[in-house]
Amino acid sequence: MALAITGARLDGNEIGLRVADGRIDELGADVEPQAGDEVIDGSGLALIPGLVNAHTHAAMTLFRGYADDLPLMEWLQRYIWPAEQRLEREDVYWGTRLACLEMARSGTIRFWDHYWKHAATARAVKDAGLRAVVGALLIDDNDPDKSPKLLAKARRALDEIEEAGEGAVRPALAPHAIYTVSEPSLRGIAEISEERDVPIEIHLSETEQEVLDCIAETGLRPAHYLDRTGALGPRTLLAHCVWLDQSEIELIVERGATMVTNPVANQKLAVGGVFPYAAARAAGAQVGLGTDGAGSNNSLDLLDDVKAFALIQKHIAGDPAAVTAAEAWEIATGQRAKLIGGTAPAVGAPADFALARLDSPGLALGALDAGLVYAADASAIRLTVVGGQVVYRQGDRGALDEVLGHARERAARLGLVAG
Ligand SMILES: [Zn+2]
Repeated sequence: MALAITGARLDGNEIGLRVADGRIDELGADVEPQAGDEVIDGSGLALIPGLVNAHTHAAMTLFRGYADDLPLMEWLQRYIWPAEQRLEREDVYWGTRLACLEMARSGTIRFWDHYWKHAATARAVKDAGLRAVVGALLIDDNDPDKSPKLLAKARRALDEIEEAGEGAVRPALAPHAIYTVSEPSLRGIAEISEERDVPIEIHLSETEQEVLDCIAETGLRPAHYLDRTGALGPRTLLAHCVWLDQSEIELIVERGATMVTNPVANQKLAVGGVFPYAAARAAGAQVGLGTDGAGSNNSLDLLDDVKAFALIQKHIAGDPAAVTAAEAWEIATGQRAKLIGGTAPAVGAPADFALARLDSPGLALGALDAGLVYAADASAIRLTVVGGQVVYRQGDRGALDEVLGHARERAARLGLVAG
């Protein structure tokens, strides 16, 4: 059954929309539903592009509210990494299902993930009806001797993700960071990325300590070091990018890599700096927005983070025009980075979009993009559609109770909440 929407608003006009084979087949003032269509009354709703969460660790919904308010390295080393030693596939599956529900409720249609038990993540994304780039998390403790084993795992993981995701998921390679993955492994990962045409997702320049350590060990700043390994290219997505200097920004732009800012997680973990957006924009950088995992955010509602991004950039620049609402919205919907791949609703585009309530307080008056960036939260989202399938309908709890039940059980098993 094809999906049809009637009477929705797009750019101030009333439009209809029909979906065929997961794509927007017809869109415009005269589009009418056909016999047999599933018809959604779009009156009072704005058709908006879906949001793209360009950096997260979805299964970390299980860690929400566990070990908050600690510095990054203490948080990772004393709490997160030990608990992650106990992870099972079903933990990751149910944590990711919960993340998918939360993201769909706030209009997110696609996300970039890296985490353990990658096949369970891919299976959860497929079952939830969302789309994702799922990276196999790769760590060799910066030990070159472990590199051959890690690279064999990386190759296997790509097949496992592809198989489990059944078309909903694009596999990727996710070396954790330059301080947890050795240089031979980064070189090998770059080769596999090229050979298989898959993205590389990596945390880069999140803390100043990472920069100082990299200079001490290699004589280079992180982006230059990553470039030396061959892993900085057009398929590379760099999360955080807080401490980049001008030469690194220029190099990243020259290599065609994408920068992803995570303003809420950076502020919560107090990394001490702010993503240099003004310099990145001036250099013509491709930029996306991510929440990071629920352990360090703690929300996966990208509508919160787009506001946080716009505000911190204006504040640090001392200039309210440092980023406009329209620009921030394009970044949050993945339209300012080719690799991230967000699309605005158009004929031929994937039928991935949301319908936002024009009767909600935040969106009822004034410009829509400013409303979405500065005033709206998830309660303004009425419906989220991925590939022509409704994945979230406001007021319908859907699988939420079942998923929450499993997620609570898994978090208790891991000792993250009381059982
Ligand atoms: Zn992260």
